[in-house]
Amino acid sequence: MANDDHGFSTEQVHGGFVPDAGHGARIPAIHMSSGFLFDDFDQARDRFAGTEDGYTYTRLGNPTNADVERRVALLERGVEAILVGSGQAAATIAFLGLLQAGDHVLAARSIYEGTKGLLVQNLGRLGIEVNFVADQRDLDEWARLVRPNTKAFFAETIPNPKNDVLDITGVADTAHRAGVPLIVDNTLATPYLVRPVEHGADIVIHSASKFLSGHGAGLGGVVVDGGTFDWSASPERWQHLTSPERSLGGESYVERYGNRAFVVFARDVVASRIGPTPSPFNAFLIRQGIETLSLRVERHSANALAVAQWLEAQPEVTSVDHAGLASSPFHDLAQRYLPRGAGSVFAFTLAGGEAAAHTFIDSVQLFSRMTHLGDVRSLILHPATTTHAGKTAAERADQGIDDGLIRLSVGIEDVADLLRDLERGFAALRSGIDGESLEARGVSDAERASLEHSVPGTHVISEEL
Ligand SMILES: *Cc1c(COP(=O)(O)O)cnc(C)c1O
Repeated sequence: MANDDHGFSTEQVHGGFVPDAGHGARIPAIHMSSGFLFDDFDQARDRFAGTEDGYTYTRLGNPTNADVERRVALLERGVEAILVGSGQAAATIAFLGLLQAGDHVLAARSIYEGTKGLLVQNLGRLGIEVNFVADQRDLDEWARLVRPNTKAFFAETIPNPKNDVLDITGVADTAHRAGVPLIVDNTLATPYLVRPVEHGADIVIHSASKFLSGHGAGLGGVVVDGGTFDWSASPERWQHLTSPERSLGGESYVERYGNRAFVVFARDVVASRIGPTPSPFNAFLIRQGIETLSLRVERHSANALAVAQWLEAQPEVTSVDHAGLASSPFHDLAQRYLPRGAGSVFAFTLAGGEAAAHTFIDSVQLFSRMTHLGDVRSLILHPATTTHAGKTAAERADQGIDDGLIRLSVGIEDVADLLRDLERGFAALRSGIDGESLEARGVSDAERASLEHSVPGTHVISEEL
């Protein structure tokens, strides 16, 4: 699928494009159709038998969704991709495409809290075990925690909020020595900053709700099969891919589909049954986003580094977790894997703990107080009382989530405006205004309600955000 003659920005605009035979539309249509007509009796039979290519029902495939799948597979240098309704759905499909009761997953502790919950609470109840690697840089720890029933390693290229860049090749090599694939969540790096498959990862997932879309107008997720893992090397470990299948005329998925065996199984057996089908309208929105990915991520990364450098110079800031800074323990990994930038999601810690974070976050005006990432708009959040509120104080301390830590997802605005906005936060700290004296600042009841996230009728489970 890869066309090495074209650069990233050309591929993000043209990759995987199939001209509209009917009308010549330059932008592929949004095929909002649950099902697709069969010309006649024989065609229905052949489509069901899989002996004739073509669409039948949108849960099994849709041309608009397929358009995004081709483009992301190309950008990630995979053999095929599956578009689903959210990032959580992508993780679910990837795990269920590999694992069954009795299997074990080894995951970095730095992963998204929602994925952690999925592994522990959902897959755990299905008999799938998980262990977390505390220091993902420690390849010996990964190797030490491998068990006979380990079937996958899982990590993120750029975890949030600490921007602790993954040693993709080191962890992939360790996984491969254990005979298992490495699944990587590349949401916060995007293929513009790094293509995990080129560094040894076997399966890549995305929350397309974040940078791939960029507009923040809809959710989506992608599973990409790098086509690199050799399932036939230990066929007894991957029996669902290597044993004879009646639906394939007695062949196995590996025999029929070769290096696409995993993604075909994950699409035809897992995703099509569980059904996290995205709306073609959302697929269209995601594709519109992807066409400007490189431009946005370049700006996001440059802005974030400038903000990180500026924050590092503020006296109230005790640390800035951004791998683009020389002070970061992940700086060498960022230089190795992320020469185009370390992304835009990072954290900084205020000396004054939660009270300082409270004042700071309530003082900014341009940054949106929001739990979302990779939006063109800059976003700000206090993990200790939101995404990580379900953890004990000791667990948070263990993960470096200090009460004064603030997460930023830096947008594409003019960086001078962003700095001026953050300066409002520091000005409030310096003038001693705290969260309790909102009255004194003339804050209205309505504004206070929104500041305190107490909008009636909304209820959130912190782990899932
Ligand atoms: C947001 C996010 C997810 C979950 O994606 P949704 O689209 O919200 O389901 C998974 N992984 C990472 C790294 C994320 O940032």
